[in-house]
Amino acid sequence: MVIVMKAQATEEDIRRVCEAIEQIGFRAHPLSGEGHTTVGITGNRGDAGRGDLETLPGVAEVRRVLKQYKLASRETKPDDTVVRFAGTDATIGGKDLAIVAGPCSVENREQAFELADQIAATGARFFRAAAFNPHASASRGLRVETLKILAEIRERFALLTIAEAVDSETLGLTAEWADIIQIGARNMQNFSLLRMAGRLRKPVLLERGLSATLDEFLMAAEYLMSEGNYQVVLCERGVRTFDSHAGNTLDLSVIPAVRQASHLPILVDPSHGTGRSDSVLPMARAAIACGANGVAVEVRSLPEKTPAGGPGSIDPEQFAQMMHELGQIAPVVGRTLPRETHGGAAAE
Ligand code: PEP
Ligand code: MN
Repeated sequence: MVIVMKAQATEEDIRRVCEAIEQIGFRAHPLSGEGHTTVGITGNRGDAGRGDLETLPGVAEVRRVLKQYKLASRETKPDDTVVRFAGTDATIGGKDLAIVAGPCSVENREQAFELADQIAATGARFFRAAAFNPHASASRGLRVETLKILAEIRERFALLTIAEAVDSETLGLTAEWADIIQIGARNMQNFSLLRMAGRLRKPVLLERGLSATLDEFLMAAEYLMSEGNYQVVLCERGVRTFDSHAGNTLDLSVIPAVRQASHLPILVDPSHGTGRSDSVLPMARAAIACGANGVAVEVRSLPEKTPAGGPGSIDPEQFAQMMHELGQIAPVVGRTLPRETHGGAAAE
């Protein structure tokens, strides 16, 4: 069930509704949107308690949600979720496209700083590097070091940082050092990890599993949300199909389907989604054109400096070109691209 509050409902009305839900033994999830607040309910069966809730002040309507996932569903919250970050105007899910970029893994501080400088210069607001995923450096010391380097990058270049957590230990470390916790494709159905991340109050970037259906993907988001973490960003990173012309098949048709079924923002990763450098720009353009809230791409410095550069990585010049092209597509789909920050010139 979901309680739709009246537009003029007060904070006190919302609080009273949440209390009433908890009193009958269910869990209340206030989800504020632009127009009005809705309060999702989990832990309930059927319509129990419906009558009492309907009569509370500020309640417009009590509705059943038919989808298996409730909190992630657009039926529960019609307005798009916009993930915000304290102390900055960067958002994911709003009018601005969210551009995430970074190397596969950090080889050293100098390389990471050079890349961060080039990425920040284009106007991108998010920097990503793998600290603990299977592609990260084998040494645990360097992996924690990566998180510390990310924190330095945050301060120096005003970039928000993203790193992947793979278990409870790395979840704690990532939550301590990064702005966004990534849960990778291979862990999309690791429900204990999802529950733990759901108990944190940090945005989570949840990647679609290699062969996950749309419903399975949104159910994974539901696990995070049912623990009270509503700052969830989805990411399509390619799925397994019969063809081998690319590492994965980037399923861009899932973007409009997600946007119809859910209020959560969705990014597209054309780097890992195709595993082909020559496909990154065309698929990034297509991702924005079909309604994605942004892209996440792997950017390497000069190939000779980064032996671990993935097959779907692009160099800083190609990245600047991508930003220029996305800036042209953005207005067509009612979006904007954040402006350059410190003098980096996008390719003409
Ligand atoms: C990543 O997201 O950094 C990554 C390497 O992705 P995957 O393992 O899903 O290809
Ligand atoms: Mn990934």
